[in-house]
Amino acid sequence: MKKKEKVLVTIIGIYFTLLIAILLMLFICIFTNTDSWLIFVYLFFIVFVVGYLVVTIIRINTYVYICEECHNAKKLSFIEGLFTTRGDNARIAKCPVCQKKQLMKRQCR
Ligand SMILES: [Zn+2]
Repeated sequence: MKKKEKVLVTIIGIYFTLLIAILLMLFICIFTNTDSWLIFVYLFFIVFVVGYLVVTIIRINTYVYICEECHNAKKLSFIEGLFTTRGDNARIAKCPVCQKKQLMKRQCR
């Protein structure tokens, strides 16, 4: 695993740990009838959305996707990083060289 990939995996780990910690705090607040539980609901959604965007930005800068037809390496745009269909270490994306929409295997930059 390359250094860039390690950074990505670490950040995803921190992201999930944070989400689980916030959920735990939320359940503790609900079970102890603390009024501040709503704060954790907001916090959960903020961390969920912001974290997902940050992970996507780092992910598109970590990987390129290889076209099986012409072996062109394509970097996903931010929108593609968010919305393209995922496969097993691959994405369905349009190759900018041969214009074919197909499954492209990812590779660390
Ligand atoms: Zn191609």
